[in-house]
Amino acid sequence: MKDNGALARIAYLLLAISLAGNLWFVGVPGWAVLPAALAGWYLADLMSGAIHMYMDYRPCRTGVGLDRLYFYEGSRESADYQALFRDTMRRIGPIERLVFDFKNHHPRPHALGRRKLWRQIGSTVIIATLPASIGLNLLCWAATRIGWPVPGWFVAGVIAFLIGGTFAQYFHGTLHRDHNPWFVHLMRRLRLLMTPEAHAIHHDTLARDFSTNCGWSNPVLNRLFDRMQRRGGMDRAGLEPTA
Ligand SMILES: [Zn+2]
Ligand SMILES: [Zn+2]
Repeated sequence: MKDNGALARIAYLLLAISLAGNLWFVGVPGWAVLPAALAGWYLADLMSGAIHMYMDYRPCRTGVGLDRLYFYEGSRESADYQALFRDTMRRIGPIERLVFDFKNHHPRPHALGRRKLWRQIGSTVIIATLPASIGLNLLCWAATRIGWPVPGWFVAGVIAFLIGGTFAQYFHGTLHRDHNPWFVHLMRRLRLLMTPEAHAIHHDTLARDFSTNCGWSNPVLNRLFDRMQRRGGMDRAGLEPTA
C-alpha cells in the first residue's frame, strides 16, 4: 500500500484504540492468559508462513510484463524501470501485486527491510487486522451485555494473534536489515522472533521455513510442504514470473 501519511496515522490510531479496548476485556489476567497469548503468537506465525508459502508458489499472471520487471538488468532506481514498474502494476490487481512482491523478495531481500512501515503492513491493517480487532470489540461488548462475557484468556490469545499478524511483514523486514530497534533484539533473545540466520535457510532453499515471525510453526509447515510436493503440487516453476 502507498505511503499515505494521513490514512496511515488514522489506521494506526484506530488499531491502537481498538486493541486497547480489547485489552480491557481481558480483565484481571488469570494463569491461562500466558499460554493463550503464546498460542495466538504461534497461530500468527503459522498464518504468515502459510500465506508466504502460497504466494511464493502461486504462478504470476503471464502476459503483463512481470517477467521483465523481475529480470530487469539495469538500475531499479532508473526512470525507465520506475515507469515500467508503474505501468505493469497498473495492469494487475492487489493480490497479483502481492504474489509478485513475495517472489521479487527472494533475489532482492534488502528492499523489504528498506521499506517504510506502512508499505510493509498497510494492506494487512486495512484488509485484515483492523476489521478483525473491531469485530472482537463488538463481540466482547455484546457478550458482556447479555451476561456471557468472552473469557479473558481467549481475548488475550486473539490480541497476540492480531499483533503478530499485523507486524508479520515488518518482522520479516527486520530479518533483512542490519540495524533494528532494541525490542527486536530483546524479542529475538526471548525466541519470540526468529534470527536472520534461521531465515537464511528459506532464501537458500525456497522450499522450507516459510514462517518469518518466531518460526515456531516451521516444522509443521515444512512437513505440509513436503507432502504437497510429493503429490505433485508446489512446482518450482511458480517461483519466478514468466512471459
Ligand atoms: Zn519466500
Ligand atoms: Zn526474506
